[in-house]
Amino acid sequence: TAAAAGSSSDGENARAAAELARRIAAEVARRRNFAIISHPDAGKTTMTEKLLLYGGAIHEAGEVKARANARSATSDFMALEKQRGISISSTAMTWQYQGSCLNLLDTPGHQDFSEDTYRTLAAADNAVLLVDGAKGIEPQTRKLFAVARLRGLPVFTFVNKMDRPALNGFEIIEQLEKEFGLQSYPVTWPIGSGDRFCGVYHRPSNKVLLYAKAGRGKAAASAQYELGDPALAGIIEADLREQLMEEVELLQILGDEPSAEEIASGAVTPMYFGSAFNNFGVDLFLQSFISLAVPPRPAKAKGNPAVLAALEPSEESSSSSNGSSSGSKAAGSTSIEGTVSPESTHFSGLVFKLQANMDPKHRDKVAFVRVVSGKFDKGMKVKVARTGRVVSLSRPQQMFAQSRATVQEGFAGDVIGLTNPGAFAIGDTIYAGPELSFPPIPSFSPELFAYLRCAPNQKKAFAKGVEGLLGEGAVQVLYSTDEYITDPILAAVGQLQFEVVQYRMKDECVFVLLFRCVFVLLFRCVFVLLFRCVFVLLFRCVFVLLFRNEFAFNQVIAEQGEKLGELSAFALPPDS
Ligand code: GDP
Repeated sequence: TAAAAGSSSDGENARAAAELARRIAAEVARRRNFAIISHPDAGKTTMTEKLLLYGGAIHEAGEVKARANARSATSDFMALEKQRGISISSTAMTWQYQGSCLNLLDTPGHQDFSEDTYRTLAAADNAVLLVDGAKGIEPQTRKLFAVARLRGLPVFTFVNKMDRPALNGFEIIEQLEKEFGLQSYPVTWPIGSGDRFCGVYHRPSNKVLLYAKAGRGKAAASAQYELGDPALAGIIEADLREQLMEEVELLQILGDEPSAEEIASGAVTPMYFGSAFNNFGVDLFLQSFISLAVPPRPAKAKGNPAVLAALEPSEESSSSSNGSSSGSKAAGSTSIEGTVSPESTHFSGLVFKLQANMDPKHRDKVAFVRVVSGKFDKGMKVKVARTGRVVSLSRPQQMFAQSRATVQEGFAGDVIGLTNPGAFAIGDTIYAGPELSFPPIPSFSPELFAYLRCAPNQKKAFAKGVEGLLGEGAVQVLYSTDEYITDPILAAVGQLQFEVVQYRMKDECVFVLLFRCVFVLLFRCVFVLLFRCVFVLLFRCVFVLLFRNEFAFNQVIAEQGEKLGELSAFALPPDS
């Protein structure tokens, strides 16, 4: 019976494992993880709001904050961000749309962008290139595109602000090809621009969608017509109709629909036109995006062969449905370089960003972890590859707007905020199961430098602050080879990083000073008390030594007194 019970529990375990693998595969398949890359003012904030609106994540675009007061979107957190009305923190927003789970990694779009922008791109699987229709490709777009290209991300281009005078679509196609060597495949095509913008032609359905201005926070009304519908004659001006027919023909010549591989490798960019502000073309983009974007991809890693598939096809079969290794023979023995499948049943994650003081009330640091494989469960124990420390992830959070929701589970592509103080550094690998580590996140060559000096009496607080900044990756810290220059040199890719440093240092100093005051006060109290005790004890000893005889005398008197007391008590008549 014991054997029978054993085999039935084995069977149950196998069933549970198969169920877990099936669930992970299904969840990974419906995830789309992306970052928007754009030059400031191209409309990233507006686009983000509209994308969230379509997913039902917010009820009215702009409700997150009154934009009359500050230009800040859902993802703004720090006071500094609010002061400047910009988005510094790269956080992630999650929402559901037509059965897909979308994770938008928010990259700062301001001119003073920072290394965080790059790191966030390192955690994304798809990039959305947002272009201002009037300006085309701008400097910051170039920098960010270079990172997306380095990572081989599929790129989706949305040409925004078509309700304003814009470049011709072919000019933008040419810019993309010339500057980035990127082939375009327009999925939608604009009909006019500026005041004459009247809609888009949707190539897959061969339909014309007409644009009508809509109120803020609402989807623009869009009537649909077949391209050849004679009714269009009365709606679209003759010259625009003619131009559209010509351009449609040119588009056919330009190229056929690209293959999924061409899009996934980033060789061809699907292209869309619209107006984020007027909410036109965003839904077409989103629908197409969820069908063409890639789900979370396998990640390069080094570690136990039991969890990795070898990079080179080995002599063993490399097919593995749940990410278990092609080199499983060597399990547990040596470390190999390979890829970890997002569908692996072993959990692993990458810390790609640390941020302090997201909630000023709690003075906390949040480590943003991108789940790379397996299933994340609230409260699970993971190992940090760098330190070997086992950490319990008991307060995982997912970010949305200015609220945080506690997550119960997560799958590859999800971003989870962890608040375990001091446990994580940028680039850390965390895993549950066989040993694993991801290659370090590349650091980017700094372009700006600054000395950091402190007042002499603040050395400790200063050193602590610098250490914190290093850990968070807010800025790179360098030291001069000249032994007389002891001040650290801060190196950054954007001016904003220095401002963050100033802000953080001020905050850190205030905290350390406060801490110091409390500590000194406590220490003094304890010291005074101790001193008093010792003093009193000493005094008593001396007193006793000096007046020993009187003490003895007093003692005798006291003893006698007691006896007298007893005697007198016995001497009393019982009824008195
Ligand atoms: P970000 O700096 O890239 O985040 O850009 P914002 O989303 O803050 O947009 C910059 C400005 O462009 C704001 O004044 C928006 O209202 C405006 N804007 C954004 N999208 C559109 C659009 O489709 N049409 C027009 N006319 N203005 C837009």
